[in-house]
Order: sequence, then structure tokens, then C-alpha cells
Amino acid sequence: MSDLGNPRVIQQLMKEHHISARKKYGQNFLIDANILRQIVEAAEITKEDLVLEIGPGLGALTEQLLKAAGKVIAVEVDQVLIPVLQENLKDYSNLVLLNEDILKVDLDALLQKEGDGRKAKVVANLPYYITTPIVAELLEKQSSLESITVMVQKEVAQRMQEGPGSKAYGALSLLVQYYAKAELMMTVSSSCFIPKPDVDSAVIRLRIYEPKERPVQTTHEKEMFELIRAAFNQRRKTLLNAVGNAANLSYSKEQVREALSKMGKEETIRGEALTLREFTELTELLI
Ligand code: SAM
Repeated sequence: MSDLGNPRVIQQLMKEHHISARKKYGQNFLIDANILRQIVEAAEITKEDLVLEIGPGLGALTEQLLKAAGKVIAVEVDQVLIPVLQENLKDYSNLVLLNEDILKVDLDALLQKEGDGRKAKVVANLPYYITTPIVAELLEKQSSLESITVMVQKEVAQRMQEGPGSKAYGALSLLVQYYAKAELMMTVSSSCFIPKPDVDSAVIRLRIYEPKERPVQTTHEKEMFELIRAAFNQRRKTLLNAVGNAANLSYSKEQVREALSKMGKEETIRGEALTLREFTELTELLI
């Protein structure tokens, strides 16, 4: 069968199977063979690898992954696409195809079952409407992952790499920076997709750190990320008010004031001015 990654084949498939791209599932199908090849190269996939693909769509990226990897687990929420994927990819015996919502899958159990002790590499052209929850979920389950190479909106790729002082800096930036080394691999024009998305895209690679490689060390990750979320949920407020008034946290304003003072920070400071290291320090002082 000819490769799926070209506009003619994708359009033909959609026509044959009466498929129109569903906005509610963030469907923008890749139609550029070069981009597909570059994504697989960026993810450094070898025959030893277990790959987890989120949202295989019509199978264009999946096919390239199946050729390069040992095994590919592809998780697709849209039931309509499953028979099309089964038909398109029937020649590959190294595919595990699941009709599930990635946010409801027990990832640890799945990767343990299929992984034979290997860590997985995630590769995906992500649905943009749920990029942040997916990346957050993957990072929280990072112990069974080696890397995450994903197509996202260009602006989200930038947000992952920002530091204090930038408008785009937020909880996602800190989550990424704590767990992974982020590298922007390429930007991708909207003309590489059917239908064309409204925004430019980018491929970002997150190489997951071993725990000892992380830029800061803490045994209170859970508390630190609760604090970070509270700080950025109300980012226009001072850290003192955002954290001191957060319903899900039990720190009093007095405790926050004292901790900030020990760190040499003004009590008018906002969360967006603190680095990852400073959030770690603040957490350790508060708990
Ligand atoms: N991989 C294909 C490609 O590159 O042409 C399709 C990418 S498209 C941007 C995103 C895919 O994710 C769609 O196939 C969509 O149905 C699927 N998807 C959306 N939400 C999902 C979810 N919660 N779990 C699994 N797949 C999902």
C-alpha cells in the first residue's frame, strides 16, 4: 500500500469512508510526508522502542512509527476511525490499537502490560483542545516514559520553555521544566494539515529526566505543584493572596508572609516572578 502521508491519499480515504474531520476531537490530519519523517527522526525511534501514539487519526504518522519501532500502541477516541485504521494498517503485526480516551486510560497498567520492562516514547500530533491536560498527565506518569515528542500549537511549545517575567510563563512551564529537558525541534506551517488549523504548529521534544537529573530536588512534588497551580490560577493577585486564600491549601497568609520574608522577597510579589527553584524553596518553608 502507498504511504498514507500525502494529500491525495488522505482526501481519498476521507471520501471513501465518508469521514469529515471532527472539530470536537481536534482532528487536523497531517498530509506532508517530510514532516511525518522528521517527527519520527526527532523522536529517535529504533526497532527496540515501544511507542505510544495518542490520536492516530487515519494512520499517517502511525504507519511511519510502525516501520521504525518495535511496537506501537495507538489510542484513538473516535470510534469512526477504528475500522479505517484497522484496514489501513492491517499489514503491520506490531500495532496495538485501542479505542479509548487517552485521559481515561490507566497508562501505568497499559505500559507495564505492553512494555516488557521498557520505557515508552510518546509520539503524537496532539488534539489541540486538550494538549495541556494530556501533557500534564504524561508528565505526572513520567516514570514509565523516556521521551515525549509532540506536535502542539506553536504558542504552547513556547509556553513550555518560558521562564519568569514572560506572559506565557505558567504552571505548564514549571511542570515541563521540572520533569524534562524541552527542545523545540521544528515549526510547521498550517498548510501541512487537512483541515488547516487556525494557528501555526511546532514539534517539541521533552526528554524525561531521571529523578537525580532534575534541576531541583524535592520530596514534596505534590505540594509544590498544588502551590504552583494556586499561584497561577489567580495570576493577577499577589502570591500572598493567591496562596493564602486558596481553598484547597491550608497555609495561612501569615505563614506565606513569613516564608517570603525568609526568602528575601517582597510580600507584593506575584507567582509569575518566581523560578522553579524558588517555588521549591517556598514549598519547603511552608510545609
Ligand atoms: N495522528 C493523526 C495525524 O497526524 O494525521 C491525527 C492527529 S489529530 C490532530 C488528533 C487525533 O487525536 C484525532 O485523530 C482525534 O480523534 C484524536 N483524539 C482527540 N481526543 C482524543 C482523546 N481524548 N484520546 C485519544 N485520541 C483523541
